[in-house]
Amino acid sequence: MIHSSYIEISKSALQNNLNFLKSLIGPSIKFSSVIKGNAYGHGIEQFAPLAQELGINHFSVFSTDEALRTISSLSSPANVMIMGYIDKPELEWAILNDVIFYVFELNRLQETIKVAKLLKKKAKINLDLETGMNRLGINAAELPQVIEVLQANQEHVQVHGVSTHFAGAESYQNHDRVMQQFNVYNTLVQKFSKASIKPELKHTACSAAVVAYPDSHMDMVRVGIMQYGLWPSPEIYQQYMTSHEVKKDPLQRIISWKSRIMTLKHVAKGEYVGYGTSYQAPSDLLLAVVPVGYAWGYSRSLSNQGHVLVREQVANVIGIINMNLMMIDVTAIPDVHPEDEVVLLGKQGKESITVRSFSELSSQLNYEMLTRLPLNIPRVVVY
Ligand SMILES: *Cc1c(COP(=O)(O)O)cnc(C)c1O
Repeated sequence: MIHSSYIEISKSALQNNLNFLKSLIGPSIKFSSVIKGNAYGHGIEQFAPLAQELGINHFSVFSTDEALRTISSLSSPANVMIMGYIDKPELEWAILNDVIFYVFELNRLQETIKVAKLLKKKAKINLDLETGMNRLGINAAELPQVIEVLQANQEHVQVHGVSTHFAGAESYQNHDRVMQQFNVYNTLVQKFSKASIKPELKHTACSAAVVAYPDSHMDMVRVGIMQYGLWPSPEIYQQYMTSHEVKKDPLQRIISWKSRIMTLKHVAKGEYVGYGTSYQAPSDLLLAVVPVGYAWGYSRSLSNQGHVLVREQVANVIGIINMNLMMIDVTAIPDVHPEDEVVLLGKQGKESITVRSFSELSSQLNYEMLTRLPLNIPRVVVY
């Protein structure tokens, strides 16, 4: 291998997760696959075509560069929607290529119309509404003017959708705030129909809302984390498992991350391992060097704490995680050889390293741990 580690993406796990999610939302609601953050670290170029093969035809990304990467990786046309950043000079590109983009203020709507007029082509926009998160979105005060401008320019814009995003649907603590947002959303949406503007899709739900707020499904859901086989929070997992009386997690993790042993080394009792004095051998040890470190997204806070799998057994990370290397204790594992597979994340035999154990030890959200996996680790699709 040229690279010191690689990531596997499981097609059968994705199929399982999509089936499960479809069973939650029913057959008539559209599904937008959220692939921002390099498909939550899974790799846009690998994930998007795989999802398309499994029937997905709507993708949500954060930015123009992600939209470009998505389009060039797909073999047939699909809806691509930029939920976040697009700069003014790229509006022309988006309109020409039927890329849907979020409009979150009046000014952006006016810029869009200007470009659409010049191009003589309708812009496909999504109006994002401010309902209480106080991030992006058109607020109530601005809405009458936005509607006026839309009415006057119907031949230049197509309203693909009207959306909002909840400020923390994954925690019951935010329940009142989320409900309040949903009420505000519904009130604002009515103003469109009164003005005879018909958005094609009303959409508000992320993964957590798909489980916890069924009323929020509307015409389309925007699902990220759950399609990758992870729950938005332990709370949402508990809520689903308890209310459906199931014992086995219906989701399957898609990602695995693997490397190989670079070399083995005997260390005598009392010697220190690696930089500094954070690990002193309590007895004679056999350690293995693994060519992965924090530059590859393996957090330094996992020093002396992380676990990996070798020969279907758990091995502890010992010493400080370096930029490109880490040491693991393989003393208790028989028959270890250089080039043996090392599982950093995923399964080997009966053992498994979960994203959760990984992210809890390094105080990262599962979302954060995944999206920090660098772009240049190769990703491969497996069955
Ligand atoms: C990230 C994101 C989602 C998906 O969230 P998940 O919790 O991963 O399902 C949906 N909508 C918006 C606007 C987002 O930014």
